[in-house]
Amino acid sequence: MTQTRESRAKLNLFLHVTGRRPDGFHELISLMTKITLADELVFSFQGKGIQVTCDHPGVPEDDSNLAYRAANRFFSACHQKKIAVPVAGVAIHIHKNIPVGGGLGGGSSNAATVLEVLNTRCGDLFSLEQLLEMGRHLGADVPFFLFGGPALARGIGEKLTRIQNLKPRHVVLCDPGIHVSTAEVFGRHDFCLTSQGKYTIKSASNVLPRGQPVDIGSCMHNDLEAAAFGLYPEIRSTRDEMAHLLQRPVAMSGSGGSLFALFSHEKDAKQGYERLCKHLAGGGKHFFLTALLNG
Ligand code: ATP
Repeated sequence: MTQTRESRAKLNLFLHVTGRRPDGFHELISLMTKITLADELVFSFQGKGIQVTCDHPGVPEDDSNLAYRAANRFFSACHQKKIAVPVAGVAIHIHKNIPVGGGLGGGSSNAATVLEVLNTRCGDLFSLEQLLEMGRHLGADVPFFLFGGPALARGIGEKLTRIQNLKPRHVVLCDPGIHVSTAEVFGRHDFCLTSQGKYTIKSASNVLPRGQPVDIGSCMHNDLEAAAFGLYPEIRSTRDEMAHLLQRPVAMSGSGGSLFALFSHEKDAKQGYERLCKHLAGGGKHFFLTALLNG
């Protein structure tokens, strides 16, 4: 018997780097939301052990795959609790739609989906708090994907506050076709360019629950752009071309290189998407018409 689940991508609508911890991890404050763009995960519960396959050549199929690591962590936690689970093994096939290494959190999303599906399959063995703890060990963005809904992320991304009042927005998204190394981008970040308190406080207080719908367009920002543009100048030139063609702000998600613009009306987003496909397509660039998810 198989089960199919969508595994959504995320955007960082804003991302301010606020400092570096003694262990080298960067602290940030970021508004994160899922979007409709998603991978498809097909689960099969026959046989023993864990098996992962993926139709994207850039994604490993061994035990370094985040979906594999999530399943392994889940079964280890069951083992530690000495719980006999009704699942002897799982085969997971990943149909990749989310650009790989694009700052859209595809791997972390897959890991969160695996934890959720296995937990449901095992009769909700673990609480959300326990799943979040497993997620923290798998990657900084995994807790966000388990959390559900738009969130303000702080710390290294694990301290999450639910944001209720985001206005719905359509998104034109560009994958510039560059596999960006998250470690390299963080490594190159210049702390002189780190957001000063007054900016981060403004962004955060704008979105923290106040009962009023928030228009996030005015807060779009990413402190990691300078580092990513320095390493991959094509991301900057694509950003500039997009902003020119769309006549609106374009920001990078996460450590890059995906770029996005927000629209109130679907018709305008579609026109913008078609303009980009016509003028910028090729050279590895791909465009997507998607939308922010509020749940
Ligand atoms: P991050 O910023 O966390 O690195 P990202 O969104 O930029 O994430 P991902 O698409 O998650 O990028 O992929 C990052 C790396 O993780 C890639 O090099 C990829 O080979 C590896 N990886 C491992 N498992 C997966 C998975 N299930 N899906 C996508 N990539 C995976």
